[in-house]
Amino acid sequence: MKLYYDLHIHSCLSPCGDDDMTPNNILNMSLLKELDVIAVTDHNTGKNVRAIMELSKDFDLLLIPGMEVQTREEVHMLCYFQSVEALEAFEKALDAKRFEIPNRPDHFGNQLILDKEDHLVEVYPYALIMSIDISVEHLIALCKEHGGVCVPAHVNKSANSILANLGFIPKELGIKTIEIHRKSPVNETLIDGYQRIYNSDAHYLEHISERENVVDVASKDILSILKYLSGED
Ligand SMILES: [Zn+2]
Ligand SMILES: [Zn+2]
Repeated sequence: MKLYYDLHIHSCLSPCGDDDMTPNNILNMSLLKELDVIAVTDHNTGKNVRAIMELSKDFDLLLIPGMEVQTREEVHMLCYFQSVEALEAFEKALDAKRFEIPNRPDHFGNQLILDKEDHLVEVYPYALIMSIDISVEHLIALCKEHGGVCVPAHVNKSANSILANLGFIPKELGIKTIEIHRKSPVNETLIDGYQRIYNSDAHYLEHISERENVVDVASKDILSILKYLSGED
């Protein structure tokens, strides 16, 4: 079946994400845009995913638990999981590799953890703009250990991408799917043979994708999407 998706959306927990990117606003905008599948992928944390998951259960909108991790090489990697529990266990493992440098909201932006009523639960204390002290290779292994799939983010962007920072996609990483940034130039020879997805990387509500990018999968569930991304489908 064909599913319209946006698998890269930031909430108000990302320092660069607008404060209006609340669980309810993200859900309602995604419904308004008639998307079938979304993923909320905040920088280095997934602490707003549980609230959005609870909300999404009342609607015909599939939420993939996700995170956008910045590695030691300053490469952005999208990580997707089968459940909120798996995402939270993965985050716990990342916590041991985190630089606990306090965030400066005035400089980098707010980092708000909200509940399903959009009420403030906690302000995330550490600067999420920092890299996690883990290599791309080890991140992929850790993600896999937790039943997840890694997709290099915006590979054709000139910063924070696997192509910009490593120069190429090492074959031994076993990557099957890459995310392409629509507005940046593409060097086809460097990405030949990889399955591609296109997301909004929205930091503002109005930037969430229209019903424009589609995957063809067996059924509308998290496992089918993960299988597609891992190339098993
Ligand atoms: Zn990014
Ligand atoms: Zn992003």
